[in-house]
Amino acid sequence: LKYQSVALIVGVTGIVGNSLAEILPFADTPGGPWKVYGVARRPRPIWQADHLIEYIQCDVSNEQETIEKLSTLTDVTHIFYVTWTSKPTEAENCLANAAMLRNVLKAVIPNAANLQHICLQTGRKHYLGSFESWGKIIPHESPFHEDLPRLNAINFYYSLEDLLFDEVRKREGLTWSIHRPGMIFGSSPSSLMNLVGTLCVYAAICKHQGLPLIFPGDRAAWDGYWDASDADLIAEHQIWAAVDPNAKNEAFNCSNGDVFKWKHLWHVLAEKFEIENYGFEEKSLSLTEKMKDMGPVWDEIVKEKKLVGTRLEEVAAWWIADMIHGASYLDTMNKSKEHGFVGFRNSTTSFGHWIDKLKAHKIVP
Ligand code: NAD
Repeated sequence: LKYQSVALIVGVTGIVGNSLAEILPFADTPGGPWKVYGVARRPRPIWQADHLIEYIQCDVSNEQETIEKLSTLTDVTHIFYVTWTSKPTEAENCLANAAMLRNVLKAVIPNAANLQHICLQTGRKHYLGSFESWGKIIPHESPFHEDLPRLNAINFYYSLEDLLFDEVRKREGLTWSIHRPGMIFGSSPSSLMNLVGTLCVYAAICKHQGLPLIFPGDRAAWDGYWDASDADLIAEHQIWAAVDPNAKNEAFNCSNGDVFKWKHLWHVLAEKFEIENYGFEEKSLSLTEKMKDMGPVWDEIVKEKKLVGTRLEEVAAWWIADMIHGASYLDTMNKSKEHGFVGFRNSTTSFGHWIDKLKAHKIVP
């Protein structure tokens, strides 16, 4: 056999999908050699052209299209589900996200005779509640661990889990794992929530306009302990769960394993963009407010610095940077370690690494 395993990455251009697409084809990746199919909604982007994958453009919210394009992938052994869609309400999120996962599983499970394992990526909002529920329900006490019960509020993560459990039950021997990262540090410009990319775009605009690089969050976030989840680490965690018998049929948190303070990362950001005037200000404006008219400035930067052509609203999600408020809700990696996953990242190094990667791919100057 040429390949030992065949991956189907759903959401291949996303923040973790892109890491999976890079790491899975490596010769020394556990479970390999891997053949890799990667699915995303739009045409293959140029910044991903180097990865050794078979790219499939498919809108998995469209049932017919998903059946047509994914039911023919009869050699798939592992599914990595790293996508989502954002709707105005959580009730709609539950329906729309469940429909996407259902379409994929309906197309693949009956046709891929050797399918062994499904990795589902959700996140820390499993313990915190959906965005919509924030301030309305009391989240769990952190540090969060995987044994905590579900919160008493709808959450699309719960819908995805329930659907997954129903589907795997139908095929004997099919296993699953659920991966719950916190805030992800990664580099995809096609991600709905790319914090590092958003902060880089902010820094690039500040540099270009000669503005000080003011931290958008509050004092508690500047001084308090935070953590993050490196996109490559999440990919490694999913690959571990895909091949290691100790990780089957379990949910796992997935974070770097250290803490940081934003004031220290802010220094890294300022250095990478050669900004001397940076720091914290009481009552700083939100980035949503501050950056609202910067579209034409970004167009100018893209042109001047010969960057990959993007629009500001594609590469910057100001709302996610504006969520850096208060002390972070940390999780614990004890369960992963107890099950044999000892991977980690230095968050400060990780932050710098993804900034460098965004620059190398000419997404930011
Ligand atoms: P993402 O937004 O980075 O990427 C999504 C990918 O799916 C992209 O490749 C996109 O093109 C593709 N896609 C979107 N709609 C599609 C469709 N209809 N058909 C086919 N492809 C489609 O994804 P992500 O941030 O890795 O999100 C995956 C999960 O991780 C979500 O549940 C999210 O809530 C969770 N999560 C994300 C973060 C973060 O910081 N980004 C943090 C914690 C948890």
